[in-house]
Order: sequence, then structure tokens, then C-alpha cells
Amino acid sequence: MITTLATVSKEKLKSPPLKVHTLGDRDLRQPAKRVSKITDEIRQLAIDMLKTMYSCDGIGLAAPQVGIAKQIIVIDIHPDQPDAAPMVMINPEVKATGGSLVNGEEGCLSIPNVFMDVVRPNEVTVSYRDLEGKPQKLTTSDLLARVILHEVDHLNGVVFVDRVKNQAALGQELSKRGFKIKDVQPLPA
Ligand SMILES: [Zn+2]
Repeated sequence: MITTLATVSKEKLKSPPLKVHTLGDRDLRQPAKRVSKITDEIRQLAIDMLKTMYSCDGIGLAAPQVGIAKQIIVIDIHPDQPDAAPMVMINPEVKATGGSLVNGEEGCLSIPNVFMDVVRPNEVTVSYRDLEGKPQKLTTSDLLARVILHEVDHLNGVVFVDRVKNQAALGQELSKRGFKIKDVQPLPA
């Protein structure tokens, strides 16, 4: 029997089911492919991604981060609330962004312990399929919008450090944590 989304435990596992790839790993730079059919295998992958995310204290995880080039992201901005349902978005597409551009601190399970400010729009509208294959559309703002944009970036081979403006500070932070600035691919402003 497959565990359903509603019953995924948020506990931290000593051995998470999936390994998170880190900055410098080519898997993070490969664009993810659309999921054509939502099978039990895909559902199990989403559940394993959630378990891995909770175990690593994350609030979002994209499939390329676990070495799988498929358009799947999982998000839970309330990991400490056992009853708050996590979100799984398959083939997410950003339809619109809005609100003001806001600066916010981001981190990433693929770049542990590096936190830097990134400017993003405060609102996003995203379409996606849920785990039952139903088309969904969500307009949201603030932290959830930021996490969605961060995770969708991963599906395009973009990591948040690519969007950091202060390259000097970024270089320092990365080297402190054993990462290399040469693995950053700055986006045009
Ligand atoms: Zn990330």
C-alpha cells in the first residue's frame, strides 16, 4: 500500500530516502522534463521527496535536487505544524508574477548553511497538476510565492545564488561552507 500525501509524517529521519545533490553537481543544472503520466511511481517519488525535505529541515524541494530531471516540486512552509498539508506541484508553470519586487533571505538544501538576499516579485500565479492529475491554479504571495519561484527555478536549472546581486559577499559565504563561486551562473539583471 502506498502512503498517501495526507499521512506523510513530518518527522526527521536519520536516513532520508533520497540524497540531496549540492552546488557544483551537474544534475542541478539540467532542465527538468514534463511528467506525462502521474503514476504510482511518481506519487512515491513525491512522498520520498517530502520525507527527505522534512528530514533536512527544508520548506521546499525540487526533483533535480535529488538527481531526477522531472518537473516535480514539493513545498511545506509549515513543517512544524503536523496538520498543515504539504503541496506537491507537477509540471508547475508560472503564469504571472506581480506585486512589488521584494528582497528576502533564501537558503537551499543544495547549498547548506548559505543564506543570502534575493529579489523576487511578491506575488505569483502558478498552474500545475496535483498528485491525482487534476489541473490546479494558485495565486499566492509572500513566503509561499518566494518558495514556489525558488523551486520552479530549480526545474530550469537555476539555483538561487545565480540571482544574488552581491557577488563579493556571496563568494565569501560560499567559500566558508566549502562551495565555489565558479559554480554560480549569474543571471542577467
Ligand atoms: Zn533550492
